[in-house]
Amino acid sequence: MNQKRVFITRRVPQKGLDLILGEPNLAVEVWPEAMPPDHETLLKKVPGLDGLYCLLTEKIDDELLDAAGPQLKVVSQMAVGVDNIDLAACTRRGIPVGHTPGVLTEATADLTLALLLGTARRLVPAAEAVKAGRWQTWEPLGYTGPDVYGSTVGLIGLGRIGLAVARRLAGFEVRLLYHNRRPSPEAAAVGALYVDLDTLLAESDFVSLHTPLTPETHHLINAARLRQMKPTATLINTARGGVVDQEALIEALRQGVIAYAGLDVTTPEPIPADHPLLSLPNALVLPHIGSASLPAREKMATMAAENLLAGLRGERLPHCVNPEVYTT
Ligand code: NAP
Repeated sequence: MNQKRVFITRRVPQKGLDLILGEPNLAVEVWPEAMPPDHETLLKKVPGLDGLYCLLTEKIDDELLDAAGPQLKVVSQMAVGVDNIDLAACTRRGIPVGHTPGVLTEATADLTLALLLGTARRLVPAAEAVKAGRWQTWEPLGYTGPDVYGSTVGLIGLGRIGLAVARRLAGFEVRLLYHNRRPSPEAAAVGALYVDLDTLLAESDFVSLHTPLTPETHHLINAARLRQMKPTATLINTARGGVVDQEALIEALRQGVIAYAGLDVTTPEPIPADHPLLSLPNALVLPHIGSASLPAREKMATMAAENLLAGLRGERLPHCVNPEVYTT
């Protein structure tokens, strides 16, 4: 029986790998390096593949799909966001694309709360001061920031992660605003009030982003929108770097247009150590660790493996981003 060929672009949690390696008649190659294969290397790896298991570090475009060839049956990504994949190019070729919704929701919501509290209470500068021996006394105004408790929080994107953040915020007795393209039927259960974007930006003490990156949300937060926010406000981004015009954000943080930013995602990723964003005292930047709890990463790896195996068998992917491949 002909073996099907699979390439996995990084060592992923063992639970996911074991599912694939336990499958008969698969020739599986796992990229062994800590750094992802660059595009040129990937182009050399994909010809003749039946299945590609990838991460958000890979660019899946027309060129790559052409290089892979018409036998490619499935692209399975270990992430919920798929903005690195040209979905239209996959759909044109009838290739279903898998992703991992839901299983990283709670971990990403936890990290959002960590950023919200960590920026408000100036955790990083305070901890750095202790380590550097700069803790000299109890300072009446040292490291003071805004209260999260009782504040107004605006969530842009009340989907899976936005709702999970909203549920966590209940204990902080915040006034909760949200904006989606359409009101969410689940908003009432978490006490979130639907408002237009202008109102959300003007009234929130914390604005937290939870939309996917799409042409519509690219630079959704730009210079004009930052000027609509309160000068005391904090912007939290655990969505995608491209949702924010980063140059405009840097300027806004420098000029005091807004007070603080907590970012899990940037443009580019990784962000160079000498980037101006990292020299700002009022920005806390993390290396895209929203889903980085071990249980979440194991579930993501497993779900991506299940999508891959279903695609290889010619079955419908349990979690498919472009289900139109099954109808067109
Ligand atoms: P989701 O359930 O699909 O929710 C997305 C929300 O965004 C929906 O409520 C949607 O509502 C809203 N939305 C979409 N386009 C919009 C627009 N133009 N304006 C306003 N709202 C818009 O997705 P999710 O699972 O919560 O994940 C959201 C994103 O988080 C992912 O796409 C991913 O990029 C990012 N993420 C990051 C990490 C991390 O490690 N930092 C981890 C997981 C996910 P409407 O359709 O009504 O507009």
